[in-house]
Amino acid sequence: MKMFDPHIHMTSRTTDDYEAMADAGVVAIVEPAFWLGQPRTHVGTFEDYFLSLCGWERFRASQFGIRHFCTIGLNPKEANNSDVADGVMELLPRYLEKDGVVAVGEIGYDDMTSAEEKYFAAQLELARSLELPALIHTPHRDKKKGTERSLALVRDVGIAEDMVLIDHNNEETLPLVLHTGCWAGHSIYPSTKMDENRMARLVQQYGSERIIINSAADWGVSDPLKVPKTVEAMRAAGIDEAQIEKVVWHNPIELFGKSGRLELGADGGRPTVDQRELFEENSVLRGQSPRVEG
Ligand SMILES: [Zn+2]
Repeated sequence: MKMFDPHIHMTSRTTDDYEAMADAGVVAIVEPAFWLGQPRTHVGTFEDYFLSLCGWERFRASQFGIRHFCTIGLNPKEANNSDVADGVMELLPRYLEKDGVVAVGEIGYDDMTSAEEKYFAAQLELARSLELPALIHTPHRDKKKGTERSLALVRDVGIAEDMVLIDHNNEETLPLVLHTGCWAGHSIYPSTKMDENRMARLVQQYGSERIIINSAADWGVSDPLKVPKTVEAMRAAGIDEAQIEKVVWHNPIELFGKSGRLELGADGGRPTVDQRELFEENSVLRGQSPRVEG
């Protein structure tokens, strides 16, 4: 079964992860722009990060047989940094036009401050005017309130709900999202929050309509194989293959396809791997023999 991990921060991961993901059936990914742990002090560092998401990281993924797409946005945490926030907002329209950019994101609430709300609303407006999907992060603390406020803001801005992915849901917030027309994302983590068995139970209870899962793997404790592992948990729970495939392949394609930039190739299969290729004179190789696959 072909799988899509629609929320993973590969910039923080290794080539071993790319190999393991490809071996486990992951064909395509979306990498949302996010914060890097270390707070940024200059707008220019965002610019290089956005360029890297659209350029080097996309190339690196292709060298392991994975199609890489990204979302571009001012993340909720750094919306609170007045040294950079307005400057990043000025950059966004230019980067939201680029190949492989399939949504505005990740945006939303973190601590639910007024600065977060201001930039969240402005970026929803940007998504609406550019006719791009929006990827919305929900806070880890007070998730229910954060989700309710996010859904209210989506309504206020007037962006079409079927263009909106509300992410990091749990048992408490999923029914709130499904009650609207928004898509519901779930991040499957190794030890905290949602795990693969809880996710399988949610699919048994609510079905597969508008349900999306991801690993949200990044620089913290996380697992880039959580999408294939959740497929196994769903199979073990007796969920039929067509429903599983809808959750891990067709749903993310339907949502991000609305950008008009989700190019998956004629057969929806893997990109050609030729590790002899260079990206601005850089190779993924370290002198070892290249993989070349047609
Ligand atoms: Zn993320």
